[in-house]
Amino acid sequence: MLNKRLHSFPLKAMKIDDCYWNKYTKLVPDVVLPYQWKILNDQEKDAAPSYCLQNFKIAAGELKGERKGVVFSDSDVAKWLEAVAYSLETTPNPELEKTADAVIALIGRAQCDDGYINTYFTLKEHGKRWISLTEGHELYTAGHLIEAAVAYYHATGKEAFFKIVCRFADLICKVFGTEENQIHGYPGHQEIELALIKLYDVTGKKEYIETAKYFIDARGHQPNYFVEEMQRPNYIQIFPEFSNYNPVYSQSDKPVREQTAAEGHAVRGTYMYCAMADLAFYYEDEKLLKCCEKIWDNIVHKRMYITGSIGSSAHLERFTADYDLPNSSNYSETCASIGLVLFGKRMAQINRDASYFDVVERTLYNTVRSGISLEGNRYFYVNPLEVWPDNCLADTAMQHVKPVRQKWFDIACCPTNVARTLTSLGQYIYSSDDENVYINLFIQNDLHTEIAGNDVMLKLVTDFPKSSSLSLQVTTKGVSDFSIHIRIPDYAENFHIAIGGKPEAYSVNKGYACIKRCWHDEQIDITFDMPAKLVSANPNVRADSNKVAIVRGPEIFCLEETDNFKNLPSAFISRSAKLEEHYDETLFGGTTVITCRAKKISDENWNNDELYKAAKPMIEEVTLTAIPYGYWCNRTPGEMLVWLNTIL
Ligand SMILES: [Zn+2]
Repeated sequence: MLNKRLHSFPLKAMKIDDCYWNKYTKLVPDVVLPYQWKILNDQEKDAAPSYCLQNFKIAAGELKGERKGVVFSDSDVAKWLEAVAYSLETTPNPELEKTADAVIALIGRAQCDDGYINTYFTLKEHGKRWISLTEGHELYTAGHLIEAAVAYYHATGKEAFFKIVCRFADLICKVFGTEENQIHGYPGHQEIELALIKLYDVTGKKEYIETAKYFIDARGHQPNYFVEEMQRPNYIQIFPEFSNYNPVYSQSDKPVREQTAAEGHAVRGTYMYCAMADLAFYYEDEKLLKCCEKIWDNIVHKRMYITGSIGSSAHLERFTADYDLPNSSNYSETCASIGLVLFGKRMAQINRDASYFDVVERTLYNTVRSGISLEGNRYFYVNPLEVWPDNCLADTAMQHVKPVRQKWFDIACCPTNVARTLTSLGQYIYSSDDENVYINLFIQNDLHTEIAGNDVMLKLVTDFPKSSSLSLQVTTKGVSDFSIHIRIPDYAENFHIAIGGKPEAYSVNKGYACIKRCWHDEQIDITFDMPAKLVSANPNVRADSNKVAIVRGPEIFCLEETDNFKNLPSAFISRSAKLEEHYDETLFGGTTVITCRAKKISDENWNNDELYKAAKPMIEEVTLTAIPYGYWCNRTPGEMLVWLNTIL
């Protein structure tokens, strides 16, 4: 029997004001959303065109022209609206809300009479709906529209968008399923499943979760739906790389319940694992939950970068083999990390296990942050751990690696995904049921909510990760009996809790320190140490053999050329090197910087035209300066390196 699942508090119940995250979250309503709005309208000079809103206008019959852009470009509008919704929930902005209402009305006008929404299949491939599920992304786009509408409904209470997507969802539930008059297919890119479950959460309408379950249950049975679909004469091929289709790519090579490792396209996979976790909870399906646990373990113990990124192959943006984690040619899509964060939060809330949040935190603090510039208007899609700009060449195997963040992309899923993640950050800080509050992330905020039927205020004060001390002020109306569970991070040493200045004994359950008592007006002080450390990878990670990474708390550090020198891999560091930490108030609005003494192979005794010779390397002493990976490439572009050579 599964436990009751924990939930997040509504965003409107809390106010985040955190010196670390403010750099991003405060940027979203002022810079990120307006910038992305310009992009969706193709008003940003020299940026890859999106055609996003133009397509909706053509579909609504308000503009003449040809539908352009990637097949799933409607989903970027949806993710932008979802980000707007979360932003409005915490930061009212009538102007932005008016813009969003206008976009929603436009989507409504572009909706077909039977509820269908998709500009590609309404305009470019009219009359050819649902015949190219392998590549068409119709259900993926539908899922993002549904997620956006649910978020907008929660934020504003307005029903227009919600009604639009319910009509679309009703159509999907009618079209897909096991009945003879239904299509027995499922999405080429998962996303609709988790969205339909969100819609069920709000409406209680069984058809939505049943169709989500159908999509998960049908997936991967033989004969393979996609292989058969592609052989039909009316099939529309959209992407050239799909011509040699391997069902592993879309996690459809075997039934979902037989999958025990993360395979295939990383974003597709993580979105599907989210829905599997949701369904495992709702249907009390222990077998499905076990699959989720096995897949999670496979990812985080064998297939995840130290920065929390996943999907090590640029070819097909996919998982490969255990321990195959190349540092410079990897894909590590920002969206895949976001998918991992979404999956981890669900698993933590089902299993009440803090270890999931060790990964969620690592991913948010490193790869998600690196996905966006400190100015908020440049983005990474691919997140390598080692960059040499000279070899990031077009028409080579490195062409996917961009040494600087981009204004936009021809296929642009990541920037709007980052925006919706930053505006929904509050969903990760706490989890709760009626009698328990779990503190997952150490982000300064005020929360006003109800626990155990009582009015409760929680005020979390911290400058984490500058320091590792937190205080939690608990104020209740009257005396209230409930438990507070504080995550003990995997990197924490000497974890102490004091209440009212006196040390407090606590029990530990699945990585949370638990305090159960009657609360009224207490201050909990939490302290722990998180010294910078040199960390090794499992020796089976060939790419990191005899290398170390500098890690402090949730942050992974990297070297940048601008602080160090060219040819960063020529440096090597002793395992016993002393890591000096200092806080630089001026750099990136304040950050910890780590320096250490090291050595470097010199090229002084080499001529430029010598490529190989039998010569003992000349060594020089250097001081290395490392900054948090999430901040890389916010100054002069150049080389970057996470894993450093060591001297054994
Ligand atoms: Zn993406």
